[in-house]
Amino acid sequence: MPVSRSLSHKAQHGQSYGRRKADKVLPKVLFISCTEARLAPQRFVSDPGQLFEIRNIGNIVPPHNPRIISGDIATIEYGLALSNLKDVVISGHSGCGAVAALLGQETVSASVRRWLVVGNSRTVSREAVGLQAGASVDSAARDRAARAHLLAQLAHLAGYPGLEAGRSNGGLRLRALFDTEAGTTEVYSPREDRFVPLGRHSTAAAR
Ligand SMILES: [Zn+2]
Repeated sequence: MPVSRSLSHKAQHGQSYGRRKADKVLPKVLFISCTEARLAPQRFVSDPGQLFEIRNIGNIVPPHNPRIISGDIATIEYGLALSNLKDVVISGHSGCGAVAALLGQETVSASVRRWLVVGNSRTVSREAVGLQAGASVDSAARDRAARAHLLAQLAHLAGYPGLEAGRSNGGLRLRALFDTEAGTTEVYSPREDRFVPLGRHSTAAAR
């Protein structure tokens, strides 16, 4: 279906896609993810209005720095200041082209290469794979690199002042999710220092 038809179709069904002011749903989940369609952040909330979404290639969180102009930093700061926010999620995935580029397994444009530098994860990704120059890597090794890249972005996120404040008063949860090739979702367990299957009852960002 052409985009214009699809949009007008949605507009005709205003009950699901638009609301009167009185019914306004406030975002509860700041969800930062890669652009991969199958990540579908909507599956974690009971109403799309509960999501405040930020998507970019490689699910990169720039380290917080108030001195530089960055749409991503500004948008994350804005999201963290939302009054009803309960969860902050950073989500990565298996088969990520950005991670393949970090490993030198995929050629990307100069702009994408420079953007990947912002994520500051090339070294940890390569270490996770034990990568030798010019060597090929299998999908399990790429997944290890993608998880290491994701944890680097989680660490950047933890350095945002709004997040520290929200967590210290117990009002905000921070989690890293990883979508596997098999279609399962894992969550990072700081206690075990590894990714574990996301339980049915912990999905839950905002239910
Ligand atoms: Zn990706």
